[in-house]
Amino acid sequence: MMDGLERKILLNPGPGTTSDAVKKALVVNDICPREDEFGDLMQKIIQGLVEIGNGEGEFEACMFPASGTGAVEAILTSAIGKTSKVLIVTNGAYGIRMADICRSFDLNFDTIHEYGEYPDLGLIHKKLSEESFTHLAMIHHETSTGMMNPLEEMAALCEKHEVDLIVDAMSSYGGYPIDLKEMKISYLAASSNKCIQGMPGLAFVIFHKDKLSELKEHTRNFYFDIYTQWVHLKEKNQLRFTPPVQISYAFYTAIQETLKETVQGRWQRYQANWQVLYDLMQELGFSFFLPIEQQSKILLAINLDEKLPKGFDHFHDYLYQRDITVYPGVIPENKTFRMAVIGDLEIKDMEYVGKVIREYLSSL
Ligand SMILES: *Cc1c(COP(=O)(O)O)cnc(C)c1O
Repeated sequence: MMDGLERKILLNPGPGTTSDAVKKALVVNDICPREDEFGDLMQKIIQGLVEIGNGEGEFEACMFPASGTGAVEAILTSAIGKTSKVLIVTNGAYGIRMADICRSFDLNFDTIHEYGEYPDLGLIHKKLSEESFTHLAMIHHETSTGMMNPLEEMAALCEKHEVDLIVDAMSSYGGYPIDLKEMKISYLAASSNKCIQGMPGLAFVIFHKDKLSELKEHTRNFYFDIYTQWVHLKEKNQLRFTPPVQISYAFYTAIQETLKETVQGRWQRYQANWQVLYDLMQELGFSFFLPIEQQSKILLAINLDEKLPKGFDHFHDYLYQRDITVYPGVIPENKTFRMAVIGDLEIKDMEYVGKVIREYLSSL
């Protein structure tokens, strides 16, 4: 651990626990981001982001100083033109957020599915057959419920119907193997502070290079214009507007760490950590919002029942005082709380969490 800092176990779904190397990378010489040296860093970040999804040669990327929602807004307002129509899978809070973005920009859209429902491929197929859509937008890992939506199957459906697939892979990209080419993804959104394990501040978009002309033609925004940002990066080696300089250095370190661990390796680590939490909570008598087969194994939404008679906040505060952060739920009509394993965490951290939760329950 770095001098003067304490190790914190963040079980909120990002920003997560970062490695020492990522923290240290924040402290750099002052530099103007218009210098070539910084431009090289931008290029290395972009290349690394594409490499994480094996997209080299076919995929392009750009980024914006923003939280993750910025990347989702960038895609929807850059790709959905006046004659386009997007079908959004709204089976959780983040799918619903996509619909909110479309509504606020007056984009043509329709929605399918309710909060917590597992996508019904037959129903989506029917909807795509009956109406003319140009795009389908979905969340890969729905962070509000912990549901892993069936990306491969949805991608195949999109290919069959010749619609472009937009994926919010915010809480999976870098932590779950996504093959951009195989899955025929047209647009993917994610951010610096989730499974890539960097600091918050940069949102990025990866897109198929065949989409460049659509992006140029369809865009309806200013700041989040993907095409213009991409051109700027290509031609001037810079973002259009001020980048978060230090966050970018930390992000590059986090990307290198992701590539070194490998996405497959990180996925194994996340699943192993998740399993410890799942087994623990099950043993302690908690129940879960989702059936096991729908679980992402990156996040667990746990029902808040009589197991925590003093309520979530009391439980949270006890853990927080012992360096562990748990997160409230967001599922309407259902009282839940969440624990995610996104971040630089190991089995021994999960065991410590287990020890503290047992202590808490026996203190009641
Ligand atoms: C975290 C997250 C976002 C973005 O949230 P921000 O608060 O804007 O960073 C979007 N979609 C999903 C699925 C997420 O998990």
